[in-house]
Amino acid sequence: MDEEKIRQRLLDLKAEVSGRIRAIDRDIRHEGMTADWSEQASERENDEVLESLGNSSEAELAQIKAALLRLDEGIYFHCDECGTSIPEERLELLPFTAHCVACAEKIEA
Ligand SMILES: [Zn+2]
Repeated sequence: MDEEKIRQRLLDLKAEVSGRIRAIDRDIRHEGMTADWSEQASERENDEVLESLGNSSEAELAQIKAALLRLDEGIYFHCDECGTSIPEERLELLPFTAHCVACAEKIEA
């Protein structure tokens, strides 16, 4: 697999996720908005959804940054846990994964 292509893909993803985080932050702050009580209540609910979306986006961004570092260090193609090479199809699907399928299952279980 072409390393430069992977790097570009990770950088694109990074830009996309960073943009998403900025948009969520803006939404949560509701700058300049005034609302009556019922609107405020539903906004609070909405904020919780936005916040969890924001948190998972932050986690995704951290993974993407880690993957770029792994690429720089030349360890990108190998599982962080057991050192086996990660199948290309898996990296196609999850370009920021640091683990082979077996280890990912162990870690997530
Ligand atoms: Zn592994």
